[in-house]
Amino acid sequence: MIVLMQFGATEEQIQGVVAAIESYDLEALVLPGDRVAIGIPSAIPQDLRDTLENILAGLPAVSKVTQVSRPYKLASREWQRESTVVEIGGEKIGAGAFTVMAGPCSIESYEQLSASAKIVKEGGATILRGGAFKPRTSPYAFQGLAKEGLEIMKQVGQEAGLKTITEVMSADLVGLVAEYVDVLQIGARSMQNFPLLIEAGKSGKPVFLKRGPAAIIDEFLLAAEYVLNQGNPNVILCERGVMPLDRSYTRNTLDLASVLVLKEQSHLPVIVDPSHGTGVARFVPAMAKAAMIIGADGIMVEMHPDPKKALSDGSQALHPHQYTDMMAELNRLQSQVSKPL
Ligand code: PEP
Ligand code: MN
Repeated sequence: MIVLMQFGATEEQIQGVVAAIESYDLEALVLPGDRVAIGIPSAIPQDLRDTLENILAGLPAVSKVTQVSRPYKLASREWQRESTVVEIGGEKIGAGAFTVMAGPCSIESYEQLSASAKIVKEGGATILRGGAFKPRTSPYAFQGLAKEGLEIMKQVGQEAGLKTITEVMSADLVGLVAEYVDVLQIGARSMQNFPLLIEAGKSGKPVFLKRGPAAIIDEFLLAAEYVLNQGNPNVILCERGVMPLDRSYTRNTLDLASVLVLKEQSHLPVIVDPSHGTGVARFVPAMAKAAMIIGADGIMVEMHPDPKKALSDGSQALHPHQYTDMMAELNRLQSQVSKPL
């Protein structure tokens, strides 16, 4: 159950609600934000639920009481029926259009990112991706250009007129990364880095949260909850594939059904990443179209001006002509599924 207080509720009124909840031996969790919400994380006995809802709804400065049966509260559709729309500049994610984020896995140089941005923009994508801090399995692999990469991203984004997204890997870097890009990406490996989620929540910036390769849906949405309960409603979920049964042919198993579950259970926008989801460039366009058909809010894809020379994830990077063809196919498809690009 969640109690939403009215704007400007006083500390005394908030504590009044807390005391009422605690008088039933239940824990009250005060969730800060523009409007304070008070959650009851523990299970409430069935016979107490309606009585408690009525009592709490009658207390001073209470705006709304909602019964939520899921472990995640603020991320659930029970809590918020209308879909969340995350605004990035003028770009709206989750409002019915199909957003395309594209660019290389890693930012390698100004020339490489600038060439990528031109292709990305021409194809019709609105958000440029590229990692400056790379989570690599091996410490000997290319780790990214760090701050220099952020500077390149900012400059190229401005020159090309594209919004930007990049990964932030630790809580202490949130402030720095937030100065340079429009969206903070939290990678699959960091999905349960709780101090990072909290810091990203505090930043107020849009947060693009990738599903961990072994995370179940509840864990994924609880990770989103960490950002939301810092008072940051701008969370975008990303399905990027889970641990595969068989790695001989694909890198991960792109769990497209999770998009349907996430859209049903949560009000947050959902983006599909078919690049990490398959690990194979030639499989990406078909999965991108599948994402559009099932009602995802967009895709994130990797594209490199010269995939053979990529310093990371070259085998899954679309060649520019594959990207351009894919965008043309998505454009044709969108008229049939009413998802304007
Ligand atoms: C990436 O987007 O390049 C990336 C590292 O993705 P993931 O966290 O999904 O592996
Ligand atoms: Mn990558």
